[in-house]
Amino acid sequence: MEPIYLDHAATTPTHPEVIDRMVSVYREAFGNPSSVHSFGRKARRLVDEAREAIARSIGASPKEIVFTSGGTESDNMAIIGAAYAKKEQGRHIITTKVEHHAVLNTCRALEKQGFTVTYLDVDRAGRVDVEALRRALRDDTILVTIMYGNNEVGTLQPIAAIAELLKGRDVLFHTDAVQAFGTEAIDVRTLGVDLLSMTAHKINGPKGIGFLYVREGVRLVPYQHGGEQERKRRAGTHNVPGIVGLQKALEIADAEREQRVRHYRALRDVLLSTLEERGVRFAVNGDPDGGLAHIVNLFFPGTNVETLLTALDLSGVAVSSGSACTAGSVDPSHVLTAMFGAESEEAKSSIRVSFGLYNTEEQVKKAANIIAETVGRMVSGA
Ligand SMILES: *Cc1c(COP(=O)(O)O)cnc(C)c1O
Repeated sequence: MEPIYLDHAATTPTHPEVIDRMVSVYREAFGNPSSVHSFGRKARRLVDEAREAIARSIGASPKEIVFTSGGTESDNMAIIGAAYAKKEQGRHIITTKVEHHAVLNTCRALEKQGFTVTYLDVDRAGRVDVEALRRALRDDTILVTIMYGNNEVGTLQPIAAIAELLKGRDVLFHTDAVQAFGTEAIDVRTLGVDLLSMTAHKINGPKGIGFLYVREGVRLVPYQHGGEQERKRRAGTHNVPGIVGLQKALEIADAEREQRVRHYRALRDVLLSTLEERGVRFAVNGDPDGGLAHIVNLFFPGTNVETLLTALDLSGVAVSSGSACTAGSVDPSHVLTAMFGAESEEAKSSIRVSFGLYNTEEQVKKAANIIAETVGRMVSGA
């Protein structure tokens, strides 16, 4: 049997139209966009067009887009850049316990450099409390960084309400929106954020390219020095094929977003109803009122994640325990730990299923049956 890929929150296959566009850029526009001759100008034009299209897609202006190597770099650029730009004003940062490691470990690194970080708790749905955030704000708070949608359980954070709370305060607001782009229409103006991270490879674009939205007037201290690219905010020759690939992936996602959400909801129904029919004991972790449509986090009481993931992989089902960065280690998920407690069964016995463009209902039904059999075997001790 062809293995079934249900780990799209880790990464997605590159869309064939994205590949075609990128190949033609590699072949026909190899120039350095910083060169003044015609070869450079041709590449520059592609970068400019991509920047305009991407900015339009999120309600930003082109000069508010800084191309980066992806989500991790965007998060680092936002958090470190903001911390250093505002360190004379204060050294307190607020985030949550359920952020991606690109945010959490960046905050930890800043703690070693004299910054103080508050890690907000979440409820059992994985959501932060805006009131708790209000109480955590101090006179020396300079930055709040809270993700748009969680990569392990799909829970959406109240970004617009947080932006509203921070309005009128001299506090920057960053959100990691990496998981949201495939299914949520992002408009930075209605969201009210100052900084927003995106990566292409989670929405069928290429790996190694992303952007940081930086609201006009927000100053970040750059930490990569060299040429004057990206208005001196990020030195280094542009990844032109990647930038064009990102533009293409985003254009396709924008055109297909509602259709994708419907598709993922249908796949989720097939997954859950098949598991129910098979009589497996399970619960869905995350927001019962709905989160990101492509992510389903499932708790199977009496199982062990490591053993379960290995057995599923051998049976041709590729899922994950949550964050890809921690897979392969025995640490329980920090997200589920924050939601349910370190000693909770949920933190030790849950897997993440995440859907993508090319998954079919038939595939998901097959995978659900394999999951049911594997879990059944583990629970009965067979
Ligand atoms: C994947 C992911 C990242 C990291 O993005 P890369 O482009 O792989 O560096 C950051 N945040 C979230 C929420 C993610 O899901």
